[in-house]
Amino acid sequence: MQSTSTAAQLLAAAIFSADRHRDQRRKGVRETPYINHPLEVAECIARIGGVDDIDVLMAAILHDTVEDTETRPEEIERQFGATVAALVLEVTDPPLTQAERKRLEIEHAPLLTPRAKLIKLADKICNIADTASNPPASWSRSRRHDYLDFAEQIALGCRGNNAALDAEFVRVLATARAKIG
Ligand code: ZN
Repeated sequence: MQSTSTAAQLLAAAIFSADRHRDQRRKGVRETPYINHPLEVAECIARIGGVDDIDVLMAAILHDTVEDTETRPEEIERQFGATVAALVLEVTDPPLTQAERKRLEIEHAPLLTPRAKLIKLADKICNIADTASNPPASWSRSRRHDYLDFAEQIALGCRGNNAALDAEFVRVLATARAKIG
């Protein structure tokens, strides 16, 4: 990879991710462009977690490209380096049924490397906030609570690396539970 400024690297990751997710929308009722989500995850890690590790922030921006688009890990490695590609792969869930996937995601969370845990935790923080304020129209109250319970399990496996993100998770979860009622 060329040595460019961190700002240029981050923006290149944002452009790549925006292009790959270009035909996707989030599942929430507001149907926001998909790219909003990985940008929010990266921004959460930077602003709340105080993390300025460029590999983590680029991987956060790219975290759903392999799982949810046609992107191959080799493309990420070529453009953004092996470290970023490895982080993206760590937080990519295998294509299984939803129940199997959730079980495996819970099992794997404690085994992730510390940097991948930051991405996983911030992903859940953002998804919980969405579940409270912008859920899919078809999700019942109990389905929303089920998602919060699942995210809490993942967060238990990912905590201990960044006190500010750990605290944010607890805060966002409590807010979401109160809001959903
Ligand atoms: Zn995500």
